[in-house]
Amino acid sequence: MQHQTIHPSVDSGVVAGTAGFKGGTLKCLCSDKPVEISVASNVAHNHACGCTKCWKPEGAIFSVVGVVPRDTVSITANADKLAIVDPAATIQRHACKDCGVHMFGRIENKSHAFYGLDFIHVELSEQKGWEEPRFAAFVSSIIEGGGARPEQMDGVRSRLKALSLEPYDVLNPPLMDALSAHAARLSGVLS
Ligand SMILES: [Zn+2]
Ligand SMILES: [Zn+2]
Repeated sequence: MQHQTIHPSVDSGVVAGTAGFKGGTLKCLCSDKPVEISVASNVAHNHACGCTKCWKPEGAIFSVVGVVPRDTVSITANADKLAIVDPAATIQRHACKDCGVHMFGRIENKSHAFYGLDFIHVELSEQKGWEEPRFAAFVSSIIEGGGARPEQMDGVRSRLKALSLEPYDVLNPPLMDALSAHAARLSGVLS
């Protein structure tokens, strides 16, 4: 934890978003011809994520990622620089081929519980007011990703709690309940 940070947007404290915030523009990190997307919505379920798949800025051991309705996302510049990182993954992450930034992650499987939502990183936006991250997901996965050693995990979880980012090793209870309820409806257990 000496050389790495949770995430630059929360390391000096989580800044609360603005009620009624309506979205903004996200840009990749290229200085030349950046990919630009427009998002006409605030972000929801924003959180720090320790999984090995989300894009993280240099030096961070977590990403910060949230969701928006997919029909509020449009690519407004340099779409030709985007490519899907792994077409077989549940979340298809559309990344800039030059700088590697993930601009949005999209679920194409219509029977997935989170179909209709795109995953975005609001730090790519210059606008202020996006809903702040409110929990941390896939925390134990940072060991797998090389972000921390097992003996450092108590410290990482304490730091997350101090930032009011309650740590979970998968998703938080509301999202886990949504996944389980969706599966139960598909199987007929839940009507
Ligand atoms: Zn780029
Ligand atoms: Zn993740």
